[in-house]
Amino acid sequence: MSSPEERKKPNILFTGTPGVGKTAIATMVAEKLGLHHANVGEIIKENKCHTEYDQSLDTHVLDEDKLLDIMEVDFDTEYISGGIVADYHSCELFPERWFDLIVVLRADTEVLYDRLTERGYNDKKRSENIECEIMRVVIDEAKESYAKEIVQELSNNTIEEMDQNIARVESWYHQWIQDHE
Ligand code: ADP
Ligand code: MN
Repeated sequence: MSSPEERKKPNILFTGTPGVGKTAIATMVAEKLGLHHANVGEIIKENKCHTEYDQSLDTHVLDEDKLLDIMEVDFDTEYISGGIVADYHSCELFPERWFDLIVVLRADTEVLYDRLTERGYNDKKRSENIECEIMRVVIDEAKESYAKEIVQELSNNTIEEMDQNIARVESWYHQWIQDHE
């Protein structure tokens, strides 16, 4: 098992409300550092980890056990020694031991409004997500689920902020490698 003590490279999770920029940043961080990007939403789709459709929520219900069984192959087998950059809009479902850094990306209401409109979300879905961001749902979830020291909240409204966020995670990564040599 790849326990936190055994890992040669850290595992990082980007989380936050849909539209905050998780996939954009995770893709670039993984590319720059030569790590493996696990887009959890895609893993769910590819492996049909959804159960029935919930009409009131306008979404499918996630089969968490199935998803975790699939992801565990990457996270817990001996031949993977860390180096996974995951991205998902929730974080409490994952085992705490999987991650060394949790980055909660944040975006302002107007920014999120535009991004979700561009994504084609209907009014209801867009409002729900904006409310989720205003209510700090994911940041609270992260702080409840992981040690406070490993949770970082980063604002991601502009390209400048995105560059800063990527640089910040890169230097965090290099420091982790140094500290664990
Ligand atoms: P998420 O994966 O969190 O749902 P995405 O990474 O798909 O969000 O980003 C949503 C949209 O916003 C994409 O079109 C992306 O290119 C854009 N975007 C993400 N971060 C920024 C940023 N810091 N500045 C400008 N546009 C951004
Ligand atoms: Mn995404």
